Amino acid sequence: MDTLAGILPGGYWDGEGRLHRSFELAALTGRDEELLAQASDRPPAALVTELLARVLKSLGSICPVPEQVARQLLVGDRQFLLLRLRQATFGDSVRAGLVCPWADCGRPVTVEFSLTDLPVSEPGDKGPVYRLTLSAAAAPDSGDVGRTVSFRLPTGADQEELSPWLAVNEARALTLLLERCIREVGGSAPPGRELVGALSPLARAEIEERMQQLAPGIEEMIEAGCAECGRSFLVPFDVQRFFFGELRADSGLLYREVHYLAYHYHWGEQEIMAMTRGRRRTYLEVLADEIERLNDGA
Ligand SMILES: [Zn+2]
Repeated sequence: MDTLAGILPGGYWDGEGRLHRSFELAALTGRDEELLAQASDRPPAALVTELLARVLKSLGSICPVPEQVARQLLVGDRQFLLLRLRQATFGDSVRAGLVCPWADCGRPVTVEFSLTDLPVSEPGDKGPVYRLTLSAAAAPDSGDVGRTVSFRLPTGADQEELSPWLAVNEARALTLLLERCIREVGGSAPPGRELVGALSPLARAEIEERMQQLAPGIEEMIEAGCAECGRSFLVPFDVQRFFFGELRADSGLLYREVHYLAYHYHWGEQEIMAMTRGRRRTYLEVLADEIERLNDGA
């Protein structure tokens, strides 16, 4: 399967107010795998943008998909696309070795689950911009108009912009995110930094909670059970970190596979690197069968 199609749980709103949700993705080629394996020092959000711009063949009526559009996709839609790519590259099943987090146990646990079973939240309410009326407690000095806030949902562009802050000052990163996402406070647009800065902690919490309710996304907590002590616990699952980690772990194999195919088929490196992993593996299996047949016959 060299391309896969699907529907984004959120979607991309273009400048004319049209929503684009259906997508076509190309399976990763050796070149894409190489990019990811060699870019471990790059900020992950920028890497996801570059990868999605390479593999997204179409998005609604947008074809080809420019990097700028891949960057503007909602955070949850980007995760969803990575999930689909992971399924196409390594299959549906996830297996990870952990240690039981209960202090009196601490034994090794193998967590296994299927990506198809991962819940995807897809809010029915969709729009480029959302409106929220803060509670009276959150903005006591304002009337109804003054308590109206409009905002958009966080995108890959926000992730790219905020990633240097996240590592050093998470609170600052969150403030910057609100400054970027809030479009209007109390009818004043653009609201300006002071207006966003003047929001009460409760107002911020209400906006953040509404954003989370509206944002599409995949479940990031997996329930696992320990066979030794019989208790269960939650494991965070970050599809991007997990998938990129798998690709890096596998990168040594990539060049061996390319060498093997070049050696037996006399194809060029460029041609082999342009193949998807599935295709590469199919030829490797054919070769293995052939070599086995020759050995048996000898
Ligand atoms: Zn245990």
